[in-house]
Amino acid sequence: MSEELFKKVVSHCKEYGFVFPSSEIYDGLGAVYDYGQNGVELKNNLRQYWWKSMVQMHENIVGLDAAIFMHPKVWKASGHIDGFSDPMIDNKDSKKRYRADNLLEDKIARYTKDGKSNKADELQKALDQALLDNDLSKLKSLIEEHEIACPISGTRNWTDVRQFNLMFSTEMGAMAEDADKIYLRPETAQGIFVNFLNVQKSGRMKIPFGIAQTGKAFRNEIIARQFIMRMREFEQMEMQFFVRPGEEMKWYEYWKETRMQWHYKLGFGKEKYRFHDHVKLAHYANAAVDIEFDFPFGFKEMEGIHSRTDFDLTQHQNLSGKKLQYFDADPEVNKNYVPYVVETSIGLDRLFLATLCASFIEEEVGEEGKKEMRTVLKLPAILAPVKVAVFPLTKKDGLPEVAKKIIDELKFDYNCFYEEKDAIGKRYRRQDAIGTPYCITVDHESLENQTVTIRYRDTMVQERIPISRIKEILAEEISWKKLLA
Ligand code: ATP
Repeated sequence: MSEELFKKVVSHCKEYGFVFPSSEIYDGLGAVYDYGQNGVELKNNLRQYWWKSMVQMHENIVGLDAAIFMHPKVWKASGHIDGFSDPMIDNKDSKKRYRADNLLEDKIARYTKDGKSNKADELQKALDQALLDNDLSKLKSLIEEHEIACPISGTRNWTDVRQFNLMFSTEMGAMAEDADKIYLRPETAQGIFVNFLNVQKSGRMKIPFGIAQTGKAFRNEIIARQFIMRMREFEQMEMQFFVRPGEEMKWYEYWKETRMQWHYKLGFGKEKYRFHDHVKLAHYANAAVDIEFDFPFGFKEMEGIHSRTDFDLTQHQNLSGKKLQYFDADPEVNKNYVPYVVETSIGLDRLFLATLCASFIEEEVGEEGKKEMRTVLKLPAILAPVKVAVFPLTKKDGLPEVAKKIIDELKFDYNCFYEEKDAIGKRYRRQDAIGTPYCITVDHESLENQTVTIRYRDTMVQERIPISRIKEILAEEISWKKLLA
């Protein structure tokens, strides 16, 4: 059932201009996608929801837009050059590449399913130890011992396990000879760390304070699957909150709770979210939790909240030789220190997918005997790609002119849509499918008494209202305050 829902969402995305495979006429590019006319609006609105709640709603958080290209030493300091890799293995017959740890995890799941829990536990322990020791030959021997075969070729003809760095690299400079290798950033966070002092000093920021940023990140994921869930080019929305050393756990708890409430406000149901604590912590963290969403393919990470200690700033301080410290003038502190950092990091594309999956509804509508199915996106009005569609009932008798006049009044505040083709019912359905909360129909009566019909997406109720009231009705529902307050 869930798998079916997921398939429907993916094809809906294409049919209604939300998401297309990249370079589709050339058969697409692995795990890269383009956002279409409705997708870009929804994505912009989701980004704005995040930005407003983080930056506009917090007087001690400011924004930043750092470049994607950064000095190569940034990635040395952050640990990405040496440590940001996955263990991979190739099957020589199928030529398919796998993550070695995923093959073993799948085997563990199979043992568990077959009731062989002892074997599952034993393999889990061995896998954890091998990953901890970074022991690639141990991973290979586990794959051999447990007789894991390639799902495609069915053979056990494997290469050695190698580390595969997930960063994309390119050259900078006009001449190949003096080219310098640089990387496409794998996370936006480092742009914030290296600008910590610039922002703190120019903005006269006092700890605790945050810097927020949204932007593209790139990871050469070995296996890309599940549509826009795991992409090679994606967008992150990250906020680094700088705090006094020793106060990080208090802020970690604060952001855990604040971020969860932000998700709840979307109104998709609290049962769709859960926390998942990290047991194995990244080298830079002293606490980490994921907010997982109940996607059609199960609960999966959508956002991470990490207590990153002073790792990144200290690393940059050491490698650059520049002090990255803050003078805390509080009489009880009165000294310089490297601040600790609590980070919130969410993938915009995963949020987009979660939003579509949760708002995609197929329902039976109409009176007894005339029942039909409709597909509707029940999005919060402020997030909908199109806020209001205006239809003249027919193409003549001056109705289009009245409809266009209404749009001319509304277009400064709302993304509007005009259409005069097809029966009204069909036009309503197409707007339901992209989540348009209001449709306004202009008919002959409109010419006589300056009234129109407004039709509500969720209830499908139609109401006759004076044209002069349209703005007031829209303003009530289409408001950031409704979502943010
Ligand atoms: P995963 O375990 O799923 O690979 P991660 O733990 O590596 O994710 P982080 O490095 O914590 O992810 O990145 C923060 C957020 O960025 C994630 O919660 C996710 O929403 C998003 N993200 C990470 N990798 C991708 C990707 N390849 N495609 C889309 N979004 C991603």
